[in-house]
Amino acid sequence: MPNTHIWIKTPLATFTANGLDASGGIVVEHGVISEILGAGQQPAKPGYAVFDAREHVVLPGLINTHHHFYQTLTRAWGPVVNQPLFPWLKTLYPVWARLTPEKLALASKVALAELLLSGCSTAADHHYLFPGGLENAIDVQVEAVRELGMRAMLTRGSMSLGEADGGLPPQQTVQQGQVILEDSQRLIKQYHERGEGAQIQIALAPCSPFSVTQEIMRQSADLAEELDVRLHTHLAETLDEEDFCLQRFGLRTVDYLDSVGWLSSRTWLAHGIHFNPDEIARLGQAGTGICHCPSSNMRLASGICPTIDLEAAGAPIGLGVDGSASNDASNMILEARQALYIQRLRYGAEKITPELALGWASKGSARLLGRTDIGELAVGKQADLAFFKLDELRFSGSHDPVSALLLCGADRADRMMIGGQWRVIDGQIEGLDVAQLIADHRQAAKELIAG
Ligand SMILES: [Zn+2]
Repeated sequence: MPNTHIWIKTPLATFTANGLDASGGIVVEHGVISEILGAGQQPAKPGYAVFDAREHVVLPGLINTHHHFYQTLTRAWGPVVNQPLFPWLKTLYPVWARLTPEKLALASKVALAELLLSGCSTAADHHYLFPGGLENAIDVQVEAVRELGMRAMLTRGSMSLGEADGGLPPQQTVQQGQVILEDSQRLIKQYHERGEGAQIQIALAPCSPFSVTQEIMRQSADLAEELDVRLHTHLAETLDEEDFCLQRFGLRTVDYLDSVGWLSSRTWLAHGIHFNPDEIARLGQAGTGICHCPSSNMRLASGICPTIDLEAAGAPIGLGVDGSASNDASNMILEARQALYIQRLRYGAEKITPELALGWASKGSARLLGRTDIGELAVGKQADLAFFKLDELRFSGSHDPVSALLLCGADRADRMMIGGQWRVIDGQIEGLDVAQLIADHRQAAKELIAG
């Protein structure tokens, strides 16, 4: 029997909306949070199943807003370990071009399982590789998401500007505009759920200025407007990209974004590092979301996202682990720790608190995905909850439980609930043979590199 009515009783600590007292617990009814109880309070109605949470710190399920699941097959690959973005991409593209549906299924399952175990309940993926034979990549990912019982924003990515036309990716990895648009329409029609509690959503996501035509950017924006879905792309990640935009379009990145009709609140951007004050003001004015990817930005030495300036201007900030070839771990709670630390280097210790970083990983990320039903522990929100225990050596002697998650380096949730259903119990994913998955995935990764 599913847990339709459950009282998560007297948690050790919680991270609630507006710091609301939840020391009496959280009541879940039909997959939604129906009550937040203060000290000594009981649920309004009797007869709830009780889950004793006295050893758990309870967070809203974390939300990852940028990833490339397929890249779990090329983690820590020798030739690119010490490369910055452009040479890193040029070396990896031919390997990625050999991706198959079977390999993508394994890669997606691994990325999702890893995210889930790190406290993540909703994951966005940016999939832009559709070589011959992999035309149904997003359909493959939908299956993986359903198997894990998570929520996902699967973005129909695209590459349409190959080397032959001055782009970065090799010709065999690019598609014609018409093919991209038709598949985008099909996927939205087939999978995009609307309204509260949606499990699967689709967005449109041309890859980056250096891998798509301006035409496909404009057409994607028009289609997103027409079908009311969100827009996602990489922008202002490196200075090489800025140089590319200046040379090819005679525009800086934000001018380019504006020129193709993307400077809007429908858009969220991965990275968003190299902006001047005027560009930050324009992004804020438009309400364009920025997904901060701290680990990836450090690994590729791309730079530091100006999060606080963007937020002050009005641009929402969320977090993303980015693909596993540039942040080889898909771990959301560790990503919040990375955000805390890299942003302190930019803005100082007083301004960047654990609560701020956790807020980016939850409510901020929800805003990027255009969702108001997830990302907060509050009445009426989906019962997507992450439960962490502080019983490992790394937490011993810690005092404030919420701060301890980030400062002591929590890396694994003990339990996960999504829409009121337990998906992780005692650190194990319900119904998934992880050992078998690792064995199959390792084999697939070896084959992919071998060619
Ligand atoms: Zn990326």
